Amino acid sequence: MNNKGLSTLAIHGGEAPDPDTGASSPNIVMSSTYVVDQPTSFSVTNMDDETPFIYTRWANPTIRQLERKLCLLENSEACLACASGMSASSGALFSLLKPGDHLIISNTNYPGTAEISRQLLPQNGIAVTPVDGSDPANIEREVRDNTRMIWVETPSNPLLMLTDIQKVSEIARRADALLAVDSTFASPVATRPLELGADLVVHSLTKYIGGHGDALGGAVLGSREIIAKIAAGGMLHFGGTISPFNAWLIMRGAATLPLRMRAHQENALTVATFLESHANVEVVRYPGLESHPQHALARRQMDNFSGMIAFRTASPSSTAARRMKNMDVIHYAVSLGHHRSLVFLLDTDDLLESSYRLSGEQKADYENIAGEGIFRLSVGLEDAEDIIRDLDGVL
Ligand SMILES: *Cc1c(COP(=O)(O)O)cnc(C)c1O
Repeated sequence: MNNKGLSTLAIHGGEAPDPDTGASSPNIVMSSTYVVDQPTSFSVTNMDDETPFIYTRWANPTIRQLERKLCLLENSEACLACASGMSASSGALFSLLKPGDHLIISNTNYPGTAEISRQLLPQNGIAVTPVDGSDPANIEREVRDNTRMIWVETPSNPLLMLTDIQKVSEIARRADALLAVDSTFASPVATRPLELGADLVVHSLTKYIGGHGDALGGAVLGSREIIAKIAAGGMLHFGGTISPFNAWLIMRGAATLPLRMRAHQENALTVATFLESHANVEVVRYPGLESHPQHALARRQMDNFSGMIAFRTASPSSTAARRMKNMDVIHYAVSLGHHRSLVFLLDTDDLLESSYRLSGEQKADYENIAGEGIFRLSVGLEDAEDIIRDLDGVL
């Protein structure tokens, strides 16, 4: 399958007709246990791809099909699918870092990841430095002897700032640290971080890859050695196994990922251009707009600008948010990457205090863009005119 294009891989990768029945579509194997014909070890440290299926928390045929499809899409050796994006992130962080290690992480990112890094990691003896990752020099400046991991999210939540993966991977290599990239907003259609030198890629499959808002899932991808370390180092013991049913739903969603990303991008560019011209909109951030401060990097690093827009209104954001409850097609709801358009207000004080805990210059930089609150719009696959009519009615 390695010589096929991304659209073909999204459909056929990891799947094959059922050898017993000839079924063309994948089965769902819900069995938690498997009949085995020989004594086997009970320790996850001895398991690999050749080990027969024993128990679904360790491995399952449906989940494995999803993992193989994701490996092909990300050009990765190995993949561990798990119950949610947070399960993938926490599993990677807690399996690969130990007390005394130092982590450098983007100062704004997905709030769950931000809160783990600000609260749980330091409680476990891991030092954490949040930096503005839009300039690799900021990352390089914070490298210490014990820096073992650099974690970036690109494009980042919620301001859609980008990090130059290739440049940061060189910094990580020199520091003998791993580079992990949360690539949820990009999807493998836009960016394949491993090809740019990253060691790990994390996805919330709940978003673009699943794409339909009906199944939680996550994945972490990288070399066989690193993924085995994460599996044996904790993940399988933490128990964040994805349900085979969710894996099956996500696999079905993933089949149309390249097609959907093209449509997300086309709609998002139309909607972002409309927002930019609207009198009540002060700031629009979309990597595909020339006005994005890192548009040149976006062109280099992203084959698709994805469907995420951040915008700030001139009138009070809370008033606009209240009016958004009455839209026809856009749902006022969290999450992103679904076929449905979703919009949500991210209140600045709340985010800065609870998740990011920014101060000084970093706080001022954030407030300068986000004001009192910024809207995160996940542009769906509806007709662009209907999305625009909804926005025009509330702005
Ligand atoms: C949603 C999201 C996560 C967490 O994923 P869940 O599936 O909700 O656990 C992590 N990172 C990013 C960028 C996300 O958007």
